[in-house]
Amino acid sequence: MTGRGLLPVARTDVLLCEVFGPTLQGEGPSAGQIASFLRTGDCNLACTSCDTPYSWDWQRFSRAEQTRRVPAADVAAELLQHPTRLVVVTGGEPMLQQSQLAPVAARLKKAGRRVEIETNGTIAPAGGLDEHVALYVVSPKLAHMGGPEHRRIRPEVLIAFQATRRAVFKFVLDSPADAEELATLQDQLGLERVWVMPEATTAAAVVGGMRALADVAIERGWNVSSRLHVLLWEDERGR
Ligand code: SF4
Repeated sequence: MTGRGLLPVARTDVLLCEVFGPTLQGEGPSAGQIASFLRTGDCNLACTSCDTPYSWDWQRFSRAEQTRRVPAADVAAELLQHPTRLVVVTGGEPMLQQSQLAPVAARLKKAGRRVEIETNGTIAPAGGLDEHVALYVVSPKLAHMGGPEHRRIRPEVLIAFQATRRAVFKFVLDSPADAEELATLQDQLGLERVWVMPEATTAAAVVGGMRALADVAIERGWNVSSRLHVLLWEDERGR
């Protein structure tokens, strides 16, 4: 049922924030690869140092100006105009829209594209979308990102991602205490394929943060991710 004056929204419509590319994936295991990005609108968390608040924070930004509802077929067509093999679906939180994204990912995969999803790891993958996803880059939020732990960390969901065998776990670390928190979580859940990266929005902060992370990462067997887009373009939107 729709409210008076509201247009009915088709279940296949994606709440889209932006499509951009070709650019370079800046983070995680696919860093450096040419990619196009689909950023969905809305998020189920509200992290204090979120670098894309315009995709979900409707107290600071206008939802009507920052997002549009687009049929799945049109989203896929827009992405297919970009000649990149890699398509990264990010947010906001894309897993809020699994059913809407399933036909988008199916179309992209059929066209030979590799679909990776960046998620905060609070909503488990389900059928429909999952079969078209090559990799989940799961980024659980540690305490320094704010909000209650039971909302940020969902152990059963993280275990479900790991069970797909198509997930890596990427953590933003800002202090030695964050590294301790991650080590405890990893030991509790047996997380494999862990990446860490600094919280940084300037090139100098990326380099300084990576230097600070290097030794503990080597000691713990974690991979270190740069933030290539920040090194190249700082916080320019759409790059
Ligand atoms: S989960 Fe990601 S998009 Fe959502 S508020 Fe946190 S950092 Fe921002």
